Amino acid sequence: MAETPDLKRRNFLLGGFAAEPSRPPVAVIGQSCFTFQGIACMSCRDACPTGAVRFELAVGGARPRIIADACTGCGDCSQACPANAMSLSNIERVS
Ligand code: SF4
Ligand code: SF4
Repeated sequence: MAETPDLKRRNFLLGGFAAEPSRPPVAVIGQSCFTFQGIACMSCRDACPTGAVRFELAVGGARPRIIADACTGCGDCSQACPANAMSLSNIERVS
């Protein structure tokens, strides 16, 4: 939630600073993803409402990659993944 001007002023006067707004978790792809076994699957891409799952060519076939800045942490990809390979992480936010 955004700070009101009064709260910002109070934090400043008390020597505190606004806390970093918390960022949503980001999807992370695990090794159980079917594409690592050469099995074609794009369920996560089809389920993602923001286009945060992109497929890139790799040895053995196309593999998914998460565009962290486009990921809202909604978890739809995780629900759709038949390999249970998608998880949400609060730590990794590297594009
Ligand atoms: S968590 Fe939501 S926004 Fe992020 S990649 Fe999965 S479906 Fe897309
Ligand atoms: S839905 Fe799961 S198994 Fe399929 S490509 Fe995405 S992460 Fe891999």
